[in-house]
Amino acid sequence: MAAENRGLWLALAGIAVLLAATLAAYRPPAPRGPDAPNGEFSAHRATAILEDLVGNGVPHPVGSPAGAQVREAILKRLTAMGYSSELQSGLVCAGGACGSPINIVATLSPVSRDDEAVLLAAHYDSVPAGPGASDDGAGVATVLEIARILAARPPPRHPVVVLLSDGEEAGLLGASLFVHEHRLAKQVRAAVNLEARGTSGPSFMFETGAANTWLMGLYASAIARPVTNSLYYVVYKQLPNDTDFTVFKSAGMQGFNFAFIGNVGRYHTPLDNVANADAGSIQQQGDGALKVLTALANAPTLRPPLAESVFFDALTLRLIAWPAAYTVPAALLAILLLLAEARMLVRRNATNTRAVVWGAVGTLGMLVSGVALCAALLAVAVAVGKVPPLGGSSWIAQPLPMHIAAASIALLAAGAAGAWLARRAGFWGFWVATSLLGALLSVAAAAAAPGASFPLLLTSIAFALGALPHLGLMRSRVPPRWTTDLAALLPCLVFFAAVLPLMRFLYAALGSLAWPLSTLVLCLGTATLLPLLAAATMRARRGVLAAAASLALAGALVASSLPTYSADWPERINLEYWFDADTGRSHYLALCDSRRLPAALAAAAHFDPVPHPRFAGSSAPAFYADAPNLALAAPQLSLTSAPVRVAQPASAPGSTASLTHFELYLRSARGAPEAIVVFPAGAHVTDLELSAPAGTVRAKLSKLAGRATLIDFVSLPAAGVQFSIDAVGRSPLAVQVFDQSYDFPAGLSLRRARPPNAVSSQDGDITVVHRTVSLEPAADR
Ligand SMILES: [Zn+2]
Repeated sequence: MAAENRGLWLALAGIAVLLAATLAAYRPPAPRGPDAPNGEFSAHRATAILEDLVGNGVPHPVGSPAGAQVREAILKRLTAMGYSSELQSGLVCAGGACGSPINIVATLSPVSRDDEAVLLAAHYDSVPAGPGASDDGAGVATVLEIARILAARPPPRHPVVVLLSDGEEAGLLGASLFVHEHRLAKQVRAAVNLEARGTSGPSFMFETGAANTWLMGLYASAIARPVTNSLYYVVYKQLPNDTDFTVFKSAGMQGFNFAFIGNVGRYHTPLDNVANADAGSIQQQGDGALKVLTALANAPTLRPPLAESVFFDALTLRLIAWPAAYTVPAALLAILLLLAEARMLVRRNATNTRAVVWGAVGTLGMLVSGVALCAALLAVAVAVGKVPPLGGSSWIAQPLPMHIAAASIALLAAGAAGAWLARRAGFWGFWVATSLLGALLSVAAAAAAPGASFPLLLTSIAFALGALPHLGLMRSRVPPRWTTDLAALLPCLVFFAAVLPLMRFLYAALGSLAWPLSTLVLCLGTATLLPLLAAATMRARRGVLAAAASLALAGALVASSLPTYSADWPERINLEYWFDADTGRSHYLALCDSRRLPAALAAAAHFDPVPHPRFAGSSAPAFYADAPNLALAAPQLSLTSAPVRVAQPASAPGSTASLTHFELYLRSARGAPEAIVVFPAGAHVTDLELSAPAGTVRAKLSKLAGRATLIDFVSLPAAGVQFSIDAVGRSPLAVQVFDQSYDFPAGLSLRRARPPNAVSSQDGDITVVHRTVSLEPAADR
């Protein structure tokens, strides 16, 4: 091996070792069997509970008869273990939805008024499309297995309250009801919440309460193999998902939110069944939850100081954490040190300004071209239908070739910049440019999102420290080769050690958007190879370039030859039957993640090949086909009293507009469990007041594209609901009303045409009856 290539080969070998270590470190542990000691969490015992609760495979959304059965089975188990349980029910509105969840709240012994308590929570409802064995049946089974262990222990310092919430999937309804109306909620200071996104994968502790310095201290001492970092939460906040923990957190509770993520293709589909629930994931989640719950319940105080930390798990070996407030000063210190080192390098003629400028051109050029190339590859893959459009669920059955292509492009970009500018920038020209650029980004990241800044900060520090031997020896003699190797190797290996665990789960979290994003992040890593590429022989540089180009090309070609979906990782296709009571016509709607209509469906009905919005104001595109007419009763939306003019609040839009107060009654004539009401944009209906036995409940409506507003009533009572709105305008209000049942008309055969590599998801296949109701505003006086 030529001495000048040693650094480059060591770096590439080091990255490979770190990748293997990352893949090994984050595998869930082996599940513990039926013979595990009674005081320990056993996934075998939890899975037996899961089988009992949801083994029949029946979906059990809020308000459903199947939901009542699951609730009964949970209550029976809690009672048998000596818990006293109560059912908390009530009408609640949250996140644009209103419904009546029924929570299970259980305690081992009465909680006295001056106790501070810790909550252990999971939701027992599922989406209408699937049985929710992992989301969140596994969470419920884990809570019950932990409850058994707690019942056999001496009572902790702070009592544990068990909450099995309802209506999470419909909009965190049960958690909102608990937090706002349950007498114990005010005494709960911290919560441990259990969730799942998919049916397998490692259990992450991905979100904490606001006092996370204190919380991470508890976590580090309780958990032997940490799986967490402060960057996950930054990513999670960008996702449209929420969990019950959002509600607990906004009520000021501390605590931990756990979820496993893996096989995301099964999330919220019929494939989220007991057979697919991974026992290793349940074991890891159960162990983690039991340990942090025990730590919280025995903590000297549950009123910790509010301070934030930056933290990560160092390949699950140990938790490394520091106060978030140190991040900006540390990043500034690193950049100052690097500037001093750069000055010294220029003074001693190791490099010059011109070389550094070429180094910067190469570094920026490789970042831009790498990301552009990967984005172009993704755009082509979407255009030819190999990858579903972004925005929906954009996962594919076999992503590995695209992972390889995205990663190889990062190496290709570095190889190209290295080959092009090796002589002009040289080792130290690249080194100074890359280290300073990384340090600048590190300062920006530290200021914008400290939790996400640790990979860049650690890399900047590694750059500064790695060059010290070379600079030290440079004073007296020509420094040996290993000192230049070290100056580039140290930051390279530190960067990849920090980011590979993040890259490992980025695709599961984000879908295909993860590829250009990974290329960007990996380009920051391969930029640290630029000095080593410049120092290497031309033959070595060409070898790296050729290998990276071949791998990227092979990845893209293999990806293009594989089917997008499989029976194991199916496309999400929902089939809907709509009866339009205004026109008396019926339609089939097919909602396909790929935005392409499968041939089997196209052959089964005369679908319009161009998708249209699902209803006026909706952004979900659907394929329409005429359907046989079934005489279904239309939902009822009627006035319960004459509309009246109301005084204009000062803040109302358009102070000259007239405002009418409507009292309304809504009911599904065919007993559908869900109804949706859409108000036109001009009416400016932003909230409504719902009549409940205990008083009125206010609800914020969700906004649709084009500023129309929507309210979703789930678990709609057979007797209907009464509510009131204030609407702007003098012309009649065209209000869209539709009720939906989670079934497809039995006599119609369209569902049989759904291909075997597709499943329904979320609300599943539904029957909808749609009508428009015109509301006449009160006349001017
Ligand atoms: Zn869930």
